[in-house]
Amino acid sequence: MQMVTTIKQVKEQVNQWKNEGETIGFVPTMGYLHEGHGSLITAAREHNTKVVVSIFINPLQFGPNEDLDSYPHDIERDRHFCEELGADLIFHPTPEEMYPQDFFTYVDMSVLTEELCGINRPGHFRGVCTVVNKLFNIVQPNRAYFGKKDAQQLAIIKQMVNDLSMNVEVVGCPIVREEDGLAKSSRNTYLSSEERKAAQIISKAIFTGEELVKSGETNVGKVISTMKATLENEPMAKIEYVKVVDGLTLAPITTIKAPTLVPVAVYIGKTRLIDNFFVEGLS
Ligand code: AMP
Repeated sequence: MQMVTTIKQVKEQVNQWKNEGETIGFVPTMGYLHEGHGSLITAAREHNTKVVVSIFINPLQFGPNEDLDSYPHDIERDRHFCEELGADLIFHPTPEEMYPQDFFTYVDMSVLTEELCGINRPGHFRGVCTVVNKLFNIVQPNRAYFGKKDAQQLAIIKQMVNDLSMNVEVVGCPIVREEDGLAKSSRNTYLSSEERKAAQIISKAIFTGEELVKSGETNVGKVISTMKATLENEPMAKIEYVKVVDGLTLAPITTIKAPTLVPVAVYIGKTRLIDNFFVEGLS
């Protein structure tokens, strides 16, 4: 497995692979890898002959008061992790390599970016769309793998690929959880041991909502109030939102019918965590 830091090095390698008829699976990440990322690398390994992982803490997607400076990183650990899972190439650029001083172009999207996480994180998805677009141009993947944990991000990337007629298949992969249910996240490392215990309440609320919908509840208000009541049992949890939206357009809905997305954002202490469930079919 190689690790490279320049756009030129990646392009040279992928051009060679393309000439040799290889297919490229791509997993964009911000590093500090865990089994959630691992599941994407494994899926990419299964469906493609070459796997590229990018590790880049993208400054464009962080707001001024967010955790850019404290975001966890350990490139040697990540390198080992990727190698174990059979990745072929890590792209680990500096911010200057990605965004030189004369960088002026951004990819923006309306509607899908204006709800949910977009409300309290203005500019976040502009940063995500810009970096993913640039990474796609560098890596030229046949398929790119994203986690359903970041459900709004996944919907936005699919929309961008479709709107801009990009030549890549976007594959969504299931949420990987800790044993107690907490969705794996690099940001979980911010939690103190007390906060880590309290964070269990998020997946409890998700599972409660999911059970309610599975048992036939279609009333959005009932699902939201039940999930909020679960979260309110934990004094350390501060709800940013619990929403029920159309699974494709992310528009608010009043009656649950597949596909529906039920996303939540919750603060545990200073750490903002997200989780969701998706209603794909109703019995
Ligand atoms: P990040 O490094 O947090 O930007 O995440 C990189 C990719 O890994 C994104 O597509 C995330 O949705 C995905 N991911 C992060 N955590 C999980 C998880 N617990 N399960 C599945 N995918 C995940």
